[in-house]
Amino acid sequence: MHDRMYGNVQRGDVDWSVLAKLLPYLWQFRARVGLALSLLILAKLANVGVPVSLKHIVDSLDKSLVTQAIAVPIAMVAAYGVLRFSSVAFGELRDAVFGRVAERTLSRLGLTVFEHLHRLDLEYHLSRKTGGLSRDIERGTSGVSFLLRSLVFSVVPILVEVALVIGIFAVQFDLVFVWITLFAVVVYVLFSVVVTNWRTVFVRDANLKDSKANTRAIDSLLNYETVKYFNNEAYEARLYASNLLEREQAKVKNHLSLAALNSGQALIIAASIAVMMLIAAQQVKDGVMTLGDLAMINALMIQVFIPLNALGFVYREMKRALADVEGMFDILELTPTVNDVPDAELLPGDADGIEFDNVSFAYHPERPILRNVSFKIPAGKKVAIVGPSGAGKSTIARLLFRFYEVSAGNISVGGHKISTLTQDSLRAAIGVVPQDTVLFNDTLRENIRYGRPDASEQEILDASEHAMLTDFIAKLPKGYDTLVGERGLKVSGGEKQRVAIARALLKQPRIFLFDEATSSLDSRTEQAINQSLQTIAHEHTTLVIAHRLSTVVDCDEIIVLEEGQIVERGSHRDLLQQSGRYHDMWQVQMQSDMD
Ligand code: ATP
Repeated sequence: MHDRMYGNVQRGDVDWSVLAKLLPYLWQFRARVGLALSLLILAKLANVGVPVSLKHIVDSLDKSLVTQAIAVPIAMVAAYGVLRFSSVAFGELRDAVFGRVAERTLSRLGLTVFEHLHRLDLEYHLSRKTGGLSRDIERGTSGVSFLLRSLVFSVVPILVEVALVIGIFAVQFDLVFVWITLFAVVVYVLFSVVVTNWRTVFVRDANLKDSKANTRAIDSLLNYETVKYFNNEAYEARLYASNLLEREQAKVKNHLSLAALNSGQALIIAASIAVMMLIAAQQVKDGVMTLGDLAMINALMIQVFIPLNALGFVYREMKRALADVEGMFDILELTPTVNDVPDAELLPGDADGIEFDNVSFAYHPERPILRNVSFKIPAGKKVAIVGPSGAGKSTIARLLFRFYEVSAGNISVGGHKISTLTQDSLRAAIGVVPQDTVLFNDTLRENIRYGRPDASEQEILDASEHAMLTDFIAKLPKGYDTLVGERGLKVSGGEKQRVAIARALLKQPRIFLFDEATSSLDSRTEQAINQSLQTIAHEHTTLVIAHRLSTVVDCDEIIVLEEGQIVERGSHRDLLQQSGRYHDMWQVQMQSDMD
């Protein structure tokens, strides 16, 4: 599923059993569904009643002509009008009753998928494009909506109507009419299905080319700056133009094949109605049938075929909707790789201190990232991890937060192995300031409040103060009500980091995890924040991942990590004395600070 390029358009055969998966959702509304189906049958009864009353009107007029009496069959005409209105009215009532079912089913499914996605692990989300995911969900839910509606509004009504018409023919007339109707309907359905399947290639191709052209255009506009940097406007336009041409050609083929389908269907309808009319006319001539019967047969046949007209479309769209819904159910069937054990415990409120005991880890088995990493952070102490980029520092943080399970060894918090705890209680105890902070497209206040949604205004102000945000916010015309833009793009990297720090402070955790929390800040702000963080960290167990060594000199222990292994450890002073890796890194940074 991960490598699908454009959602579900590439899928092959569809699995009709997906329909069964919708039943539990419908079952919750069985009373309403039952009512909607009853209304449907009433609407259809009224519908076939219309041609029947037409027959009686024609017959009575016919007799009037014979007897020369000009009596308009008022009652019949009235019945005709009432039936015609009733068929529409019952249909509308059915829509109203069922509309609620469809919408509620969609809401429930949407919420189920949303909750499930939040339960899936980080790895899943890292390897999925959020755009693709939201498209899958959108297609899935609109697929469900389409399936429910087409079943209740198209497929079942057609079946009921065909059954009623055949019933009338069987009771009233020669069986030949039943056979012709059955034959025509079967040929019509088979033709529609076969031609629709043949057309699928063109429809898919047209959709694919459409997506491709759109994706290309959006990608190009998203990369506006890059396009300008390289003066590539003409190149982009050429690419887009060739995509548009492909789309155009695919669409034309699609239209032509649709014309073939429509014409074939019209031919089957015309031929079967003509044959029936011929036989009916003959029987009227022979006196077996009345003129009214002929009118009724004609009206009934036209009435049956009108909804059948949409069959090709409904069949194709149902197939597509099924594939989309299947994609969504596939997501629901994914299971997270990180799970609470069956009798997972809550991390006790006073548990504190962290221990990594011989931890090894690999994102992919063939490439080990951490090897036998052991260290302890006693309660209230501060430990830093430093080392070259890619050494595995952030991985240590992700493992502590249990975004991944360790391959070997154990991680404990307050003496409790984190694999035996509920993820919720573990994560509640840890405040993280990540390397890259992404903000919600909301106000600064709401973004800070995210650390603890029930925090008071004063607490938000205090947290902002500690994170050195107050001066920055005071300069903004809208202050705390400033919108930060999508993903927080309207605030600078350093400002985002400070919002992240304020959030983490507001959470009031026992353990802090700073992953290069101040890397985007200028030295002065960094120093100021570090002072403020030091006061806070003083009473907290803190794990700092740092790039700039000046920020870790006060740590109780500094761990130097290289290629997933601890190569040096000790206090700043010890490490400098050892004249090893740390010493070298320190020298390099001092030098570059002086330059
Ligand atoms: P930096 O200082 O640049 O942030 P780091 O020491 O924090 O580096 P990590 O983010 O822990 O490094 O990554 C360690 C290695 O694991 C890197 O080589 C990285 O490419 C790899 N890695 C990180 N995340 C994943 C992932 N989800 N799947 C596969 N490999 C990953």
